[in-house]
Parts: sequence; structure tokens; C-alpha cells
Amino acid sequence: MGPQVKGKIVLFAPGLPPGASAGALYSIFSNLRTHGPSRAAAAGAVAALVRSVPPVSLATPHTGTLEYDPDKPRIPAAALDAEHADWIARLARRGVEVRVRLEMGALDGGLVDTANVVAEIRGAEKPEEIVLIGAHLDSWDVGQGAQDDGVGVIHVIEAMRLIRGLGVRPARTIRGVLFANEEHGLEGGKAYALAHKGERHLAAVETDLGSGKPERWNVSGSPHELAWFLTAAKPVGLPVELGWCGADISPLKDQGVPTMTLVGDVERYFEVHHSEADTLDKVEAQELQEGLAVVAGIAWQLANAPRP
Ligand SMILES: [Zn+2]
Repeated sequence: MGPQVKGKIVLFAPGLPPGASAGALYSIFSNLRTHGPSRAAAAGAVAALVRSVPPVSLATPHTGTLEYDPDKPRIPAAALDAEHADWIARLARRGVEVRVRLEMGALDGGLVDTANVVAEIRGAEKPEEIVLIGAHLDSWDVGQGAQDDGVGVIHVIEAMRLIRGLGVRPARTIRGVLFANEEHGLEGGKAYALAHKGERHLAAVETDLGSGKPERWNVSGSPHELAWFLTAAKPVGLPVELGWCGADISPLKDQGVPTMTLVGDVERYFEVHHSEADTLDKVEAQELQEGLAVVAGIAWQLANAPRP
């Protein structure tokens, strides 16, 4: 970014490659939203607008994390729906001088105390060995957060209820954790990892990719741990792949806990999450139930499968 942005409002409006999956687009372009405003500020911009990341848009801005660089001015930044962002970009490309009046009601209310919700089914044989299943309780202020991460919360609560309702006891402890504040700094995940550092987590499983039909598990860990995941996951019927394993359990991963995340068809999730459109009507009951069935299944398998 050059000196031409000095005193201006910068618009980030990348042309999205047609045909790319919503998940791939999100992982590439959400970076502009997260770090773009401070880059613009470094070049002297007075504010930043970022085009919504999802491949489809019904004039609905898509919000999300912004990480200000502490060494740069904290300029105002806002998400702009795809239609308006592309319109401005077209005008600018034609040489039209675009004037934008930016009025924002956003404010930083500071930090307040909140809590993770933790429940467990104690293991009958090795209660000190913990298999964690987790999702996050918070959502962006727009929409209802039905897909992100209401679905994950239902997966965890219902998986726990399903196992408990059957009256069976797992060998290891199954612990359900609903993390606070994932979206705005991962405070719940960090606090959990710190508070439970001394405990023996054998695995942490996260569900935070919505209700789309379950397709696979993304896993991380040592070859030894991955071999155990492969064996334990087999009866659940979804393939296992190395990959990104979720935000809430990443502080546990940093402590060396092997992690796993449920990945389904994420197209609908990435279209609506972080937007006003993330409402309950987007959640298919059948797919939601398939998701909670596999979460219950993997929790049960990991809590019982012998370690190699
Ligand atoms: Zn989420």
C-alpha cells in the first residue's frame, strides 16, 4: 500500500476466484479483515472497509475478528457487504472519485467476567484420563449464531445426554466444555487450558463448523497418537485427515494434547456465519442429528479404545 492512501478510506475488495469453495475463500481472505486495517493505518489511511468474505451475499455484511497492530493507529474499520464493496471497486476502477461517509456505532465495552460451562461423565476405570468434546457459547452480535456455534453447542450437550441416557459408563472421563468468548479473543479456550493444565487430556475434540453433513475428522498429534485416532475413529465411520483442528482447543494443542475437529460440508456455514443471516432456519434437523451422533460416537470410542 503506497502513499496514495494517506488521509483516505481504504477498501479491501479482492476479486474472488470463481468456483472456489467457501471454506478455502474464508481461510485466504479473512486475513484481509484481520490484519488489513492496521496495514492501511501504517500507510496513513483514516479508516478501512473490508469486503465480506463469503462467496454469496444478500447485501448482508459479514463480520469477524480484527487484530489491531499495537504499534499502528487504531483506525475505524467495518465490513461492507459484497454488493456495495464491488460497486465501489467498479467505480474506482473506472476513475470515478468515490466519496464515502462512514458512521459507526461500534464501541469497545471493555472486558467483563464470564464463564466456560464444564460437565463430565466420570470414567469407570480411568477417571483421571479425560476425553474432551467442546464448542463455543458465544457468537458475533449479528444474527443468532445458529451455525457458529449454536450447532456445536447442541452437538456437545446432546452427545453427553445421549451417552448418559443410555446408562453406560465410559472407561475414561468424557468432559463436555462450552467455551466462552471464542470469537473475540479465545479467552475461554485459553483460560480452560491454563486452569486444567495439570490434568491428563488424552484427546480434545471440537465442533465449530456448523451442521453440514459430516464428512471427516481433521486431526493433529504425534504419529503414535494419530494411530490411536485412526483405530478409535473407525467404528464411527468417518475418515481421518491431518489438518486444522479448531480454535477453542488450540491452547490445549499447544500443550501437546492431540486434537480433532469435525468437518462436514461447510459451504452453507461459510455463507452465513458471522452475519445477520446465521439463524436457526439454516440448520437442517437431519444433518444436526447426524453431527451429534458422530460426536457422541467419537467421544465414546476415544473414552474406551485401548491405547496402542
Ligand atoms: Zn465458531
